[in-house]
Amino acid sequence: MKTLLLFTLAVLCTVAGAAFGQAVPQSMMTEKEALVKSEARSYASLMNAKSKPASDPNIDVKYYKLNITITTAPNYLRGTVTMKAVSSVSNLSSVTLDLMNTMIVDSVKVGATRLAFSQQPTTFTITLNRTYGNGELVTIDIYYRGVPVGDGLRFSSHGGVPWVYTFSQPYGARDWWPCKDHPLDKADSVDIWVTVGISNKVGSNGKLVAVIDNGNGTTTYKWAERYPISTELVSLATTNYAEFTNWFKYTPTDSMPVLNYVLPEHLATAQIDLPKTIDMLRIFSDKYSLYPFVMEKYGHAEFGWTGSALENQTMTSFGFSEEWVLAHELAHQ
Ligand SMILES: [Zn+2]
Repeated sequence: MKTLLLFTLAVLCTVAGAAFGQAVPQSMMTEKEALVKSEARSYASLMNAKSKPASDPNIDVKYYKLNITITTAPNYLRGTVTMKAVSSVSNLSSVTLDLMNTMIVDSVKVGATRLAFSQQPTTFTITLNRTYGNGELVTIDIYYRGVPVGDGLRFSSHGGVPWVYTFSQPYGARDWWPCKDHPLDKADSVDIWVTVGISNKVGSNGKLVAVIDNGNGTTTYKWAERYPISTELVSLATTNYAEFTNWFKYTPTDSMPVLNYVLPEHLATAQIDLPKTIDMLRIFSDKYSLYPFVMEKYGHAEFGWTGSALENQTMTSFGFSEEWVLAHELAHQ
């Protein structure tokens, strides 16, 4: 609810900002109007979500692990998602998750046991190996693949270099990974392992715990988000990013990294714009409360939604880096 209130305030702030637009250059106004429109859309979706039932009200998701490989010649995504969920009914015998059927589910397992499943246009239903009692934990592995369609994950390029990024708010997660895609059921933690070509970096949520050279021309980025997170804010962005880190010193002895992944051709501009985030973190932390993910990081990953930005948890995705939009997305955090 606190999140929702902040969200509302942020939307109102943007709208208010647009109302005082006379002194603002035209290009900035256009960007602002685009953002205001997208904010209004996502806010309406969020309101709808309250009345929209979750695909499966009988489970409470605790954990996801995404272990996926993304190729761009050809464009393809394949991988495994592990979900740990607790039954909230006395005799759970099936689970329904969200996934567009443009993605193919190959198999579903509990341990070594293969489970029966059936795909519908936007969901798939798994028949469990037995019934699970109220409060009982079930761990399910889903093997899947395909070319995501829709806005959830986009295959793009910059200057001829492949560039892949997500935009999952409000219901785009199901475009590219199987999950209970509803903002009211946050997982307690998520691991996001993404394998890409060796010349790429992958930005995502939480802490970067490992970068593995697989010795075959690919690299695996392993991110760990240990704060609760909704599926719409699970994100990735990958290309040949340039990176730099600034530090937010939040006590005399503690600092948090602000990690930025930007297109190499935009590095000079980004190094002027993005470090302003440190002052914003200090001001917002003083005025409201300490930045909520301080044990992990904050940061930015550039994506191809020009004139837009999305407050992906601990790593905002941005299509432009004006000061006001950086402050806006930080406020969402
Ligand atoms: Zn916003």
